[in-house]
Amino acid sequence: MNLFLSTRNKENVVYSKEAIIQGLAKDGGLYMPTELIDIKIDLNKCLDLNYQQLATYILSNIFDDFTKEEIRECVFAAYTNSFKTDNITPVTKIGKDFLLELYHGPTSAFKDVALTILPHLLNIAYKSYGKNKKIYILTATSGDTGKATLEAFKDVKNTYVTVFYPKDKVSEIQEKQMNTTKGNNVDVVSVVGNFDDCQRLVKTIYEDNQIHEIYKNVQLSSANSINVGRLIPQVVYYFKAYSDLVNNGFIKLKDKVNFIVPTGNFGDILAGYIAKLIGCPINKLVCASNKNNVLVDFINTGIYDINRKFYTTISPSMDILISSNLERLLFVLSDFNDQKIKQYMNDLKTKGRYKIDKEMLNKLQQSFVGIYVSENECKKAMHQAFFQDKRLIDPHTAIGYHSSNKYRDNYKNIILATASPFKFPTSVLSSITDTIVEDEVSAMEKLAQISKEEIPTNLKGLDKLEILHNKTIKINEGRDYVIERIKELND
Ligand SMILES: *Cc1c(COP(=O)(O)O)cnc(C)c1O
Repeated sequence: MNLFLSTRNKENVVYSKEAIIQGLAKDGGLYMPTELIDIKIDLNKCLDLNYQQLATYILSNIFDDFTKEEIRECVFAAYTNSFKTDNITPVTKIGKDFLLELYHGPTSAFKDVALTILPHLLNIAYKSYGKNKKIYILTATSGDTGKATLEAFKDVKNTYVTVFYPKDKVSEIQEKQMNTTKGNNVDVVSVVGNFDDCQRLVKTIYEDNQIHEIYKNVQLSSANSINVGRLIPQVVYYFKAYSDLVNNGFIKLKDKVNFIVPTGNFGDILAGYIAKLIGCPINKLVCASNKNNVLVDFINTGIYDINRKFYTTISPSMDILISSNLERLLFVLSDFNDQKIKQYMNDLKTKGRYKIDKEMLNKLQQSFVGIYVSENECKKAMHQAFFQDKRLIDPHTAIGYHSSNKYRDNYKNIILATASPFKFPTSVLSSITDTIVEDEVSAMEKLAQISKEEIPTNLKGLDKLEILHNKTIKINEGRDYVIERIKELND
């Protein structure tokens, strides 16, 4: 069976169910399956499968301590009637390239693809370990994970959720989506700080062994892409997109393609790398960054350095300086050298910087290209997509679109469309017309009018919902806040 190793201590080994329950390893590392090279997905077989069948095939190869029946149950519970289209993640044309549309789920962002299945995986994993603790899911969000997590876990038995988001650094729509969530087991808190502060807060709670010792009735877990249960379901749509291109005659079986991925926490693009490792014919993964271009510099130089200004941009879900999942990539590139990773992560913590060796950098550059997009270029990209290619895209997807126009080789480019344009209506509208509409609801309606596209149901009428959560805390109050909640759950 596939073993999942902590990136910071290889002795810490679990199977997938346990990895999903824990979320983050107790040593602060991330669980990573290390025998991926031995898994070979049969591309020929993929061609005949619909999304659910393909997800069952791929997930049961990686999460192989689940029975195939268990995986099938999770897949069908997640992907039946929850997405606007039956094929879940359709691929469409945009100019010379393709758009992999990942935003047709319940909250109109790609996070839905993995978060609709995570509660089911967690539930089965939990049952089979015979655990009866309460599950407390701590989540940091740059805007989209929050709502997708809340929707996925609200009213799930024995499960409690707190979402931390950076105050004034998510879009108005994202904030409203979260703060209007019903359900008696959910809690939404804004933090004075940025996403990195929220993520750091969540991580320090996990790494605090005392908490695990004292509050024995509570099991902490995570819905962020640090959890493999969140990461691995994202591998499926890379294979799906590839199969769709083959089935529609755009490429021949075994031809390579490039995926262009708007990146923040490095989860989505890492799923692409995993797809490549297990047999998806990918030439390059293009890491498309916004003005917070720490990853692009890293891919070009091998130096990861967060001693730089943090920018709030019009693509807020990518406003991140500490990309958690990069740790998993480094683990693979170093041939699973946990001591090396521990050193890098320690350097990052103490100096805000680390440098990888030449050999790792060469390997990295074989698969990854980094492209950085300015705010102005992002706006122009939305304009160009709309008027030249007749496609309405959101600011995150626009980062991918612009990068795709900058990176071309002999292979087809597939751009990951990560959110609905209606989630960021004011910046989309002001980019394609010259009208500035401050109010997001009017902007949404105006956008629907000029594009003749429909506003997703979950975003309609958002302004009329009651605000149910409006707590704000300072970052140094975060720990006490969480402990207080854990105490309540523990009693
Ligand atoms: C989360 C998010 C991203 C970045 O994805 P990562 O997995 O964090 O790299 C990009 N676009 C949108 C719309 C998102 O919500």
